[in-house]
Amino acid sequence: MAVTMRTPLARVLGPKTATGMSEQLGLETVGDLLRHYPRRYASRGEQADLADVQVGDRVTVLAQVRSVSTRPMRNRRGSLTEVVVGDGSGRMKLVFFNHRHAQLKPGAWGMFAGTVGEWRGEKQFAHPDMHLLDGADDEDDWARALVPIYPASKDVSSWVIQKSVKLLLGASGELGDIVVDPLPEEIRSRHGLLPLPDALLDIHRPTTMEDVERAASRLKWDEALVLQLTLAARRRAAALEPGIARPRRSGGLLDAVDAALPFALTEGQREVGEELAAELDRDQPMHRLLQGEVGSGKTVVALRAMAQVVDAGGQAALLAPTEVLAAQHARGIRQLLGSLGRAGELDGDPAGTRVTLLTGSLKAAARRQALTEVADGSAGIVIGTHALLQQTVEFADLGLVVVDEQHRFGVEQRDALRAKGSRPPHVLVMTATPIPRTVAMTVYGDLEISTLRQLPSGRGGVSSSVVPAVEKPGWVDRAWARLREEVGAGRQAYVVCPRIGDVPGEDEPEDADGAPAEDDGARTDRRPPLAVLDVAELLRSGPLAGLRLDVLHGRMTPEEKDASMRAFAAGETQVLVATTVVEVGVDVPNATVMVVMDADRFGVSQLHQLRGRVARGAHPGLCLLVTEAPTSSPTGQRLDAVAATSDGFELARLDLETRREGDVLGAAQSGRRSGIRLLSLLEDEELISSARTEATALLGTDRGLADHPGLAAEVAALATDERAEWLEKA
Ligand code: ADP
Ligand code: MG
Repeated sequence: MAVTMRTPLARVLGPKTATGMSEQLGLETVGDLLRHYPRRYASRGEQADLADVQVGDRVTVLAQVRSVSTRPMRNRRGSLTEVVVGDGSGRMKLVFFNHRHAQLKPGAWGMFAGTVGEWRGEKQFAHPDMHLLDGADDEDDWARALVPIYPASKDVSSWVIQKSVKLLLGASGELGDIVVDPLPEEIRSRHGLLPLPDALLDIHRPTTMEDVERAASRLKWDEALVLQLTLAARRRAAALEPGIARPRRSGGLLDAVDAALPFALTEGQREVGEELAAELDRDQPMHRLLQGEVGSGKTVVALRAMAQVVDAGGQAALLAPTEVLAAQHARGIRQLLGSLGRAGELDGDPAGTRVTLLTGSLKAAARRQALTEVADGSAGIVIGTHALLQQTVEFADLGLVVVDEQHRFGVEQRDALRAKGSRPPHVLVMTATPIPRTVAMTVYGDLEISTLRQLPSGRGGVSSSVVPAVEKPGWVDRAWARLREEVGAGRQAYVVCPRIGDVPGEDEPEDADGAPAEDDGARTDRRPPLAVLDVAELLRSGPLAGLRLDVLHGRMTPEEKDASMRAFAAGETQVLVATTVVEVGVDVPNATVMVVMDADRFGVSQLHQLRGRVARGAHPGLCLLVTEAPTSSPTGQRLDAVAATSDGFELARLDLETRREGDVLGAAQSGRRSGIRLLSLLEDEELISSARTEATALLGTDRGLADHPGLAAEVAALATDERAEWLEKA
């Protein structure tokens, strides 16, 4: 039977290889393998790969053997073989115990794969997997200028993938039969794109890097066009289902909010406010992203929009990522609304509404009460965590959904809430992590973007420093001394650690994004991250003895958390030792010091968020990033960059550069599931825009995709595939 893109790999490769590919790399069909593109291309001689690899990386390198020496081991039986390999710029040692490798001779070329370790300051591979380039069988592969290096797994090495792909391409006269090009000829020629079989051949077996680029841009087009067709179809469907206009009314809650605000709105807040007010007034549901620097005052903008919707007779829901933050929002909003937020209570203003908090930790009776208020519409403003998303939560008339700190939520969650409106509600999502236009356009299903660039005036600003704990131990003492000075002056401080502690085997950061992973594998073990409970103990009995210190972390009960947060907000606690539960949104204006322990364990955006917790009042802030990472390491430099700028937009850029695309999109939206492999939502803005234009034009004709069965099939495949789940509701 003829091989096609849908042929199971097991029919083409051996069962063992096919099983490994399926289980470890998720490759099931010939098409999957042909679309498993090389991560990079090695060439003999002028590579800088060895110089660049980091300890802990799992890598595959192409290198030449320089020397081989075998000696008996001193304390054990057996022998130790050390092999030095090099490429143009670097050297690395391979270590084998009791191993005989007859072909490992100086001058031999090979590929070596493993996790980079370190011994006596030198990088080394212990027992690497290797594939020496000697057999005649390999001749053709290794004579090539560019050797593809594939994303590999433990049992399926890069060279096994290379061989398997070669097998498929080897029938290369027939590649044209295996692969049917879905792209309409006219689009191909308009954008100067290679036919699909040529592009696949070139991406796997290029002669020059120009081949790779041409092939990649063609393959990216497939991804972009299918994605945009799917989104365009969805846009057309959405346009047929209007929402409800929520026009502004004077003399209601919004006016009361404005009158109660203890400050004047910034110009940006006013402008965005106008934008939202106008959009809420249309029956086309608003779909907007509000991005604004940490501390730029997004909450009040959202509150004003919520008030407008309540004035128009609807309900507004605010979804917050943590209980701490939800409770803080509820407290702040209730305080601002005063009696207007207590309609139905004895001292409430009947012209007002109710502010209802709904979180997972509510006791049964309180929860029933909250659910009733939400369902009968007496709660105009509903604030909550994930608990809001549950099936049992029903709204009388949900008019506006606000999602705070969007980066903490998946698209699925936002949409679960949106689905609670009888007609599509307006949606406002807020984030302090800037999202590139193409990402907003693609992953978030066409969000319009508003930006708050200005911070409210009168802020002190934060100065940041990296404290290299190993190189300059004295600086750590100095850090605690500075913290004491601030507390002595009446201010408060946070000390943040990556882990809670006190649990055997707990070695994962509570909530950290983690350090950016390189290459295709996991990092080796390091010492466990510092823990809140341990650090609190050390500080209490050491450098911060005598200060009023408390802890806050995710394993405390909601009541404990709330009590801890309240005590800190009231100034009763001077130093709060916490996990990243304080990362988002926590607002205590008197706090001026943020010390982050093991700062290298946090992502750039997280550090920026953490830093945003201080200097929220008039006093200047101080952020100290304590790390054992060497100043000169990439990690040290990343921290330096965070310390050097407080521009969230610049840092977001840095963050995106140091993370992989999949991480940027969030786990649920990464690579294979979205069908996006080569397309970079950050770098291919132009290509994505062109694809969007083509998609809109294709669907705009009466015949739609009827004349392009190949394309229609790809879109249908994406739609029925589990990987489209996230797109489904976007
Ligand atoms: P974020 O955008 O990070 O969510 P918040 O909405 O929490 O920021 O606002 C940060 C702090 O600034 C809050 O204490 C808020 O009351 C205050 N704030 C907001 N707008 C203004 C303003 N126009 N003038 C002064 N303070 C403001
Ligand atoms: Mg906020």
